Amino acid sequence: MSLQLETLNTSVDEAAQQFAINLTDTPLPADEREALKAEPKFGTVFSDHMARMSWNNTDGWNNRRIEKYGPLSLAPAAAVFHYGQEVFEGLKAYRHADGSVWTFRPEENAKRYIRSARRLALPELSVDDFIGSIAALVRTDIEWVPTGEEAALYLRPFMIATEAFLGVRPAYEVEHLVISSPVGPYFSGGVHPVNIWISQEYARASRGGTGEAKCGGNYAASLLPQIAAAKDGFDQVCFLDGQADPAIEELGGMNVFFVKANGDVVTPALSGSILRGVTRSSILQLIEDRGIKVSEEHITLASLRAMLESGEIAEAFACGTAAVITPIGRLADNDFDITINGGEPGKFTMDIREELTDIQNGRRPDRHNWLTRLA
Ligand SMILES: *Cc1c(COP(=O)(O)O)cnc(C)c1O
Repeated sequence: MSLQLETLNTSVDEAAQQFAINLTDTPLPADEREALKAEPKFGTVFSDHMARMSWNNTDGWNNRRIEKYGPLSLAPAAAVFHYGQEVFEGLKAYRHADGSVWTFRPEENAKRYIRSARRLALPELSVDDFIGSIAALVRTDIEWVPTGEEAALYLRPFMIATEAFLGVRPAYEVEHLVISSPVGPYFSGGVHPVNIWISQEYARASRGGTGEAKCGGNYAASLLPQIAAAKDGFDQVCFLDGQADPAIEELGGMNVFFVKANGDVVTPALSGSILRGVTRSSILQLIEDRGIKVSEEHITLASLRAMLESGEIAEAFACGTAAVITPIGRLADNDFDITINGGEPGKFTMDIREELTDIQNGRRPDRHNWLTRLA
């Protein structure tokens, strides 16, 4: 089945104007807001409003609105609580030096939201409504977009099955919401490498499962292995594909890359159970632009181990919207434990990181037209 995605031909303005604006009577006082923006802890503080749309199986999507950020009232029988019918997205709004606010490749997140929704039997939200809901929220809460080198307003669109019905079938009532949270640099005190445990015991996804969909259930499945790895002093878990002669897939919420000593770069090929990261695809493009050989491959654990032990792999990093690029300093499993690049951030890794964050923050030319202006 091929995707017939509508092209983005409506302007951001037009899409945003479809949303009725219902302002809160009790916005956070400006001095409190500025204090929170100055010291944000990832995902703990939320802006005054949220975007919201409703769907039912007779009227389709309706009631586009911005309203006060606050608790949802849902029936205890709402399907999302019982069968996990839910998908989400994550992207950022960046404030450029001239005060304008931009986001990065939102149509890619919008298309992934459609694919994720399909897999979870949720209704598809159009690219225009996806971008419109984000733009309407960011324009309403523009004062919440922080300034600063790696600061941004993190945007979290999500879709939940709200129908009160315990029968097992796709829900007839659904909500799409967008909430936003000011975030600072992911790493306080500078970028530092993470230690990764490769899990042979647990998988987060499997062939034919929901690994390619951005859904909460995949994250729930990654938490227990994460706890086990943290007990042994590891920061994150790398998951395998669960096949005989297992292959490397990704972390619980980030894709992975390996930089070889000869300069070539390799990342696991999309297998159907790996999340198609927007950061991953952007990095592939930036590396290709440099004339460097970069390939998407089936990387078995055995071949990775051999390349690590022979010194063929010089650097490794993980990538995703939240942390952008995180160097990997150590990789271990039941049978091996190897420090990469002396446990220091690699030069290539940090260079690509700087190029990408510069583009996102308007400090370098946007030669691929990746940025969309929101306000
Ligand atoms: C969101 C996510 C990523 C990163 O995707 P980006 O689009 O780059 O933010 C990678 N892996 C998983 C499992 C994810 O959920």
